[in-house]
Amino acid sequence: MIQNNRLFLSPPHMSGREQEYIAQVFESNYIAPLGPMVDRFEQNIRDYTHTSNALALSSATAAIHLALRVLGVGTGDLVLASSFTFIGSIAPILYQNATPVFIDSDAKSWNLDPALLEKAIAQAPKKPKALILTHLYGQCADLKTIAQICTHHDITLIEDAAESLGATYNTQQTGTFGTFGVYSFNGNKILTTSGGGMLVSSNKELIDKARFYSTQARDHAPYYEHTDFGYNYRLSNVLAAIGVAQMEVLEKRITMRRQIFQWYREALRDISEITFMPELSDTRGNRWLTAITFERSDPERIRTHLETADIESRPLWKPMHLQPLFKNGSVFQNGTSEGLFNKGLCLPSGTQMTSGDVEYVCAILKKALR
Ligand SMILES: *Cc1c(COP(=O)(O)O)cnc(C)c1O
Repeated sequence: MIQNNRLFLSPPHMSGREQEYIAQVFESNYIAPLGPMVDRFEQNIRDYTHTSNALALSSATAAIHLALRVLGVGTGDLVLASSFTFIGSIAPILYQNATPVFIDSDAKSWNLDPALLEKAIAQAPKKPKALILTHLYGQCADLKTIAQICTHHDITLIEDAAESLGATYNTQQTGTFGTFGVYSFNGNKILTTSGGGMLVSSNKELIDKARFYSTQARDHAPYYEHTDFGYNYRLSNVLAAIGVAQMEVLEKRITMRRQIFQWYREALRDISEITFMPELSDTRGNRWLTAITFERSDPERIRTHLETADIESRPLWKPMHLQPLFKNGSVFQNGTSEGLFNKGLCLPSGTQMTSGDVEYVCAILKKALR
């Protein structure tokens, strides 16, 4: 969509029913956090992903934090994690005073390399407590292999499906393979509540515990009694109304993101130096962002050129092991994510784009390559 003539990377795309549901919230006066819309949004996610328990939260970062807290991850514990991801996936490890161990990607999925995961587990000075696995740009990691490794070594799998709502591996939803799955409804994700997240699990006890921690860990008593401390992490009933309306169009949005990817692929197929993010067989990604790499050209030069035409593009995530924050951190690397970061670019992928918009972006991009 062009807002103020600018083509954004992934702007919100409302279904049209959001204000109707928000009006219902106002009529009921459930302006407090929690209320019927939160219940309904959680039910929508349970139905869509076929999970038995869901907890609506203020963000996916909060959801990952609660997962770690519930698992008892604490000071000095090791947590394995995808290096090629967004900081929201990793910061919760630091909240718990635990230590991240970063694992690089493989070329065939751009996601966590199972062979490096095996190596990291074998060489860890003590048994890691969990793995936080990201499904980058809505594309599935090699989930089956990775889940098997986690089961074999008794390491709890947390799927960071913040970007991959609706993506499937063998028709099963990402976020439902691990002990925990996490979805984000931040402003630029495939669905948005302006800000929000969801924690899912097949284990009711774990979600009940997370719910307890998400509302200040209040004990059962008529007054405020606390034997433990928690957080204020719940999603507002007003924002959940947006989520309910957004869930009605999720499949449509995925179809459109995949269509946009195809349009790019067709429009750029003659340019041999461009490679598109792959999709593993037996998986369906949601193609949240169309991500490409350039064999020779400098992506930063392309990005600034697109910017002159008011087109927003973005470098790929800078791997965590290259971040100043983790300069002395622990990492198992093979150069893949660093190479992708140096060569890659995310193109505008908002679902209000037309084929004409995609052609326009490609025309400017081709001009920059000349
Ligand atoms: C967006 C995102 C998050 C954080 O989600 P919030 O809801 O903004 O906290 C975490 N991990 C990944 C991979 C993301 O893209």
